[in-house]
Amino acid sequence: MTEPSALRLIARELAETRFADRAAGWDRTREYCWRNVAELAEAGLMGMTIPRAHGGRGASFLEACGVIEEIAKVCTLTARVVVEANMGAISAVMTYGSPAQKALWAELVLAGDKPAICITEPGAGSAASEMTTTARRVAGGYRISGTKHWITGGGVSRLHLVFARVETETGAPEGIGGFIVLADPARNDFPDGFTVVRRERTMGLCGMPEAELRFEGVFVAEDMVLRPPSGFARGFADLMSAYNSQRVGAGTIAMGVAAGALDHARRYLLQRQQFGRPLAEFQGLQWMLADMDTGVHASRLLLEAAAASAQTSPTGFPDRTMAARAKLFASETGVRVVNDALQMFGARGYGDAEPLERMARDVRMFTIGGGTAQVLRTQIAGALLDIKTPQTREGYTRLAQTPAPAAMPTLRAS
Ligand SMILES: Cc1cc2nc3c(=O)[nH]c(=O)nc-3n(C[C@H](O)[C@H](O)[C@H](O)COP(=O)(O)OP(=O)(O)OC[C@H]3O[C@@H](n4cnc5c(N)ncnc54)[C@H](O)[C@@H]3O)c2cc1C
Repeated sequence: MTEPSALRLIARELAETRFADRAAGWDRTREYCWRNVAELAEAGLMGMTIPRAHGGRGASFLEACGVIEEIAKVCTLTARVVVEANMGAISAVMTYGSPAQKALWAELVLAGDKPAICITEPGAGSAASEMTTTARRVAGGYRISGTKHWITGGGVSRLHLVFARVETETGAPEGIGGFIVLADPARNDFPDGFTVVRRERTMGLCGMPEAELRFEGVFVAEDMVLRPPSGFARGFADLMSAYNSQRVGAGTIAMGVAAGALDHARRYLLQRQQFGRPLAEFQGLQWMLADMDTGVHASRLLLEAAAASAQTSPTGFPDRTMAARAKLFASETGVRVVNDALQMFGARGYGDAEPLERMARDVRMFTIGGGTAQVLRTQIAGALLDIKTPQTREGYTRLAQTPAPAAMPTLRAS
């Protein structure tokens, strides 16, 4: 067993002494956790993965995962802020961005902004590359038009990375790019044409706004275009490879919530008596607890391996298949472990005197957001079989017309 990192210890202290007691309140009031965000910023945990040259700590994704796990054990909402302030959109900008873009993002994130990543649309969820939001070339930049929904932080975030189909002045398609849109919701200051249409009412993670955003010809100056290194034609692949870091972060939240629930359950089994004995003496519950513990450990190992893969990958981001595998396993395990922990509390688990019902509502999100469990399985299978697995009818038709390979492709370990 290795010693916990210094960052993990800072996070543990904050989680135990500040965030744990406030978690039920954010859930009840549906307020964004501004107070926690201020303390995260003060502790240097907002933007910890930002390179030192830009004022961050230059922490690795692996170190960030330790922080996320500690915070997720007590407050899922705050852990989501930490993920999005260190992985995903911020990682894309810190890797592909211009010096001015990097400086802007570093300044705002280090001061407490949680950037919003805007990919999903009403007609493009799992089929994200079928997005219809456009960025039309105009003098001095681009105009963004379209609707994004389920955008985490919509209405509180200042920085937005909007994925859009890039078009020339005459409407010819060029591919997909990222466009930086800056707003100041605290001052109700949004660029012309940018509207926060509404906030969803969610079953869990209640303090986090999930919003529909409308862009009606929003102007993005040339210097706020995030240019994927392979150009717009392969822009989606480049931008999504940065997103692999966010997937590892999301999986780590699910694992952290499960680890927190496991700990609550373990203590309760030792304390609660029925039939004149502590629950801990019943083998049925002991085996449940052992399975929960094994699931949490296995999730942690997959996530750590995926996070560590960034250190040797040419892109600097976690390996795509390892990230998919880790998020898939950790999210499904998280849902099961928290559900089992709640069961061990009997009626008490169903009430709000214990955090289990909140944790069960919160953790449910992670098999959906950021790539559903089904989509991740498709991605993993595609990598195993070394084939593209198109999901559109046209794609399948094309695949059926392609001659079958002479032999099964060799399975690769990633
Ligand atoms: C709380 C929350 C926060 C989110 N935050 C963001 C955010 O910040 N930014 C952002 O861009 N998006 C965000 N999302 C959106 C999220 O990424 C999408 O919900 C997700 O990609 C799935 O899209 P969908 O909801 O449209 O489901 P659909 O794509 O409509 O899928 C419906 C069901 O069909 C299944 N399915 C779809 N296609 C296939 C297939 N080919 N094979 C098998 N099964 C399939 C899915 O797995 C799912 O079970 C968030 C979502 C949630 C719930």
